[in-house]
Amino acid sequence: TAPHCDALVFFGATGDLAYKQVFPALQAMIKHGHFDLPIIGVARSGWNLDQFRDRARDSLQKHGGLDADAFAKLSARLQYVSGDYQDDATYEQLRRALGSAARPLHYLAIPPGMFESVIHGLAKSGCVRDARVVVEKPFGRDLASAQLLNRTLHKSFAEDAIFRIDHYLGKEAVENLLYFRFANTILEPVWCRDHVASVQITMAEQMGVQGRGAFYEEVGAIRDVVQNHMLQVLALLAMEPPTDGGPDAIRDEKLRVLSAMRPLAPTEVVRGQFRGYLGEDGVSPSSQVETFAALRLYIDNARWEGVPFYIRAGKQLPVTCTEVMVELKPPSRAIFDADDSGRANYFRFRLSPDVLISIGARTKVPGESMVGSATELIAHHSPGDEMTPYERLLGDALRGDAALFTRGDTVEAAWRVVDPVLGNAVPVTSYEPDTWGPAAAELLMADGDQWHNPALKVASP
Ligand code: NAP
Repeated sequence: TAPHCDALVFFGATGDLAYKQVFPALQAMIKHGHFDLPIIGVARSGWNLDQFRDRARDSLQKHGGLDADAFAKLSARLQYVSGDYQDDATYEQLRRALGSAARPLHYLAIPPGMFESVIHGLAKSGCVRDARVVVEKPFGRDLASAQLLNRTLHKSFAEDAIFRIDHYLGKEAVENLLYFRFANTILEPVWCRDHVASVQITMAEQMGVQGRGAFYEEVGAIRDVVQNHMLQVLALLAMEPPTDGGPDAIRDEKLRVLSAMRPLAPTEVVRGQFRGYLGEDGVSPSSQVETFAALRLYIDNARWEGVPFYIRAGKQLPVTCTEVMVELKPPSRAIFDADDSGRANYFRFRLSPDVLISIGARTKVPGESMVGSATELIAHHSPGDEMTPYERLLGDALRGDAALFTRGDTVEAAWRVVDPVLGNAVPVTSYEPDTWGPAAAELLMADGDQWHNPALKVASP
């Protein structure tokens, strides 16, 4: 097994991600007895250690719930290095702060434009030896920039020392998808083109861009959630069984299935923008950025040949919910329910806001005639008081367990799928808030398929 890191170096410690996610995750790890290492915050803000501790306290009061005991321990472990990321002196100072620590984890919670200088500074000062690095999305903004980022990282770190956080993969519901698929035998016989009619993944958000218009202008739905979260979920759903549960076996299969995905054609994509987006702060009045994307894609392998995979993500939609529907083909002959030629069976994976796996079936309505109704067998439903993804993923990175992190080749394979439809390759059409996006999304559907609109009500067992 990989050795445990012996210090956490935390670039961007004054930033938004640190404030919202990292301090709360660190406090939770300390509280659960999972963390007992020095934490060295690095930033250029010119703060001192007391200001840094105040920031941590403030973050916990707002985002994690301050736990006096755990905070005291966290506070005692904090150190702070102030300096410019381009300046060698910053890294000399860091080297001294590391003391006898020989296997640091460098967490880059900084804008990606800064990665190159930080990695260069770390390498030059000898801080990369036996170290690991954690980087945050975005992993590029298209295939070419993702390749460049990988080259930058690989100059100083071996791939197995690089931990790319897609926090989505740290969610219990997403892990459960992988577990449910391969810990059971009921799925495998039907999990292929012979039985599956279509697969859909919807990631719907009721909210708009919430004051983050300037950020969103640089991204759009395809870059923000489709290329990463949704294709990763799709890979877990569609990949071949890994030979074991280890990180490499799982990531090899993810790479294989992502590589078999056909790059999208513009005719397979609908881009939408909610009415009102152009009036948001930080948004250009002529913006063509999509707040909604629907797409149909195919996996060119023996298991999935010809099966449509539909993906839909958007803001200002009627519900906030992420759900996967795997619809099975109908019985070859409709013996009962002659006028109901619809599909009987499906697997539904609700990934958020609640966690649920259900199997759709038909059962007979009591009475003389052989008429049925749709029911759902709830296979799993958890209340959701699990670790936050950041607690889970930071702990994994410190231990060197890469299973839930995205490998460089997988990131590039996912960009290859969406690269042809980035930018304005597909015109954007507007849609009314609180609807399921532009009507054109319906036209992506193959014969017999329709979008499944997740309702928030969970069917009772
Ligand atoms: P941020 O608040 O904009 O920046 C983090 C820190 O980086 C800042 O506090 C600043 O620290 C330093 N920094 C920013 N711009 C800089 C510049 N031009 N030159 C030198 N230093 C600069 O970013 P963030 O929201 O925390 O995000 C950090 C990383 O996580 C990014 O890669 C982002 O894409 C990713 N991410 C963030 C979120 C989120 O919810 N915020 C979610 C997912 C991924 P000093 O000025 O004190 O050095």
